[in-house]
Amino acid sequence: MPNKGSVVNKKELEVVKTSLQARRHEIIEKLSEAQSQSKLIETDIAQDLADKAESSYTKEFLLSLSNAEREELLQIDAALKRIARGEYGLCQSCQKEIGKKRLHHLPWTSLCIDCQEKSESETA
Ligand SMILES: [Zn+2]
Repeated sequence: MPNKGSVVNKKELEVVKTSLQARRHEIIEKLSEAQSQSKLIETDIAQDLADKAESSYTKEFLLSLSNAEREELLQIDAALKRIARGEYGLCQSCQKEIGKKRLHHLPWTSLCIDCQEKSESETA
């Protein structure tokens, strides 16, 4: 049963999807707690993030998350989209398969280890 370009079988995909959705839920839950505390408004940044996330989140929502959580949430969304498109497990930069070990530790990652290291050294 050849499945073009996917390192992850259907059953594994379901598991990944469930854990991504759980993590997503966790971040969103955390927001409800943080929401009342944070009053910091950086409209441009939030709008940019909202655009990236294709507007499923409000500015207030995104602003109440830490940078790391925002980033993670966007990555999780992107990973869920890749699952839906059948592209999960492929590097978004070089189109090669991402190692299973890497996917296991970072299920939302969109880059293989080589491309990740490359992008880190470029931004550093
Ligand atoms: Zn790559």
